[in-house]
Amino acid sequence: MAAKDYKIATLGSHTALQILKGARDEGFETIAVCTPQMAPVYKNFRAADKFIEISSVKDFFSVEEQLIRENAILIPHASLITYLNLDAIERMRVMYYGNKKILRWESDRLLERKLLQNAGLKLPRIFDSPAGIDRPVIVKFYGAKGGKGYFVVKNEKEFEEKMKQETTGEQYIIQEYIVGVPLYAHYFYSRMSSELEIMGFDKRYESNVDSIGRIAAKDQMNLNLETSYNIVGNIPVVVRESLLPQIFSMGTETVKAAEDAGGLFGPFCLEMIITPQLDFYVFELSARIVAGTNPYIAHSPYTYVRYNEPMSTGRRIAREIREAIAADRLDEILG
Ligand code: AMP
Repeated sequence: MAAKDYKIATLGSHTALQILKGARDEGFETIAVCTPQMAPVYKNFRAADKFIEISSVKDFFSVEEQLIRENAILIPHASLITYLNLDAIERMRVMYYGNKKILRWESDRLLERKLLQNAGLKLPRIFDSPAGIDRPVIVKFYGAKGGKGYFVVKNEKEFEEKMKQETTGEQYIIQEYIVGVPLYAHYFYSRMSSELEIMGFDKRYESNVDSIGRIAAKDQMNLNLETSYNIVGNIPVVVRESLLPQIFSMGTETVKAAEDAGGLFGPFCLEMIITPQLDFYVFELSARIVAGTNPYIAHSPYTYVRYNEPMSTGRRIAREIREAIAADRLDEILG
């Protein structure tokens, strides 16, 4: 079979514009599965060749049979993974790009931590109990979408004060707060070429943390502000070129360490804070395309150098699929 016998499908959300555009540029027919709320947007952008509507993301499985008939390969992204549960994704029968096994590692903060530690990366310290808090910490709730509800405290007393307002009973972790700049490094590991590529970098634009500095400290105190990290968008970053060797090596070690979890391939992201001493503290791994790649729908500075033609992460995925089909190795990149 050739690429023309397959279609590329994704859920209309998150990085769908980029995934669909990239698939089309690689010669695939495309399908966007959309809720009524999102469909007009993707239609307006002429983003896909075909639109399939579902009443809500939870109904995704009602169109699975249709996707199978279309011989579609589904490209997952965070919106799809967040709204469907892991068991359901593992049982999915439609062709699925990427490793499903790694989703368990990624969604369990302890397993994720083990993987990052095995890669030899520096991680922020975790406090098992509030009594141990002896420095600034960030308290993260597991289900917090986009970092909403996180808070920063520096001792047990402050922690208990904040927790009084917490009524959800949600699980949380207490993590050392690293003072530095956040950086999200986007990688792509190709199973076809066994090569790691740096696709680009971003930082997030979060409300209200990214605007608190716009008012004087005395006004911040007066307003009794609570910091929150609700993500609104992504801002491109180009790193100091001399940092690239370390960033490459961190990616390589992560790929090696992920072999225990069935392998990490395709797009992934290391989320880190870099201190003034240039220590890199990784606080999260995303084992799939991240929204921070969206500014580079044409190309990033890095993909422009390597490919000398438009190359987004979305297109890179489609190219990998095209090459795998041509080499009769598609099964190696499907979960
Ligand atoms: P997350 O939901 O884990 O992606 O984190 C949301 C935001 O909190 C990001 O903007 C990070 O910059 C910030 N953040 C997360 N963990 C830490 C940490 N250990 N130290 C400092 N900032 C952090």
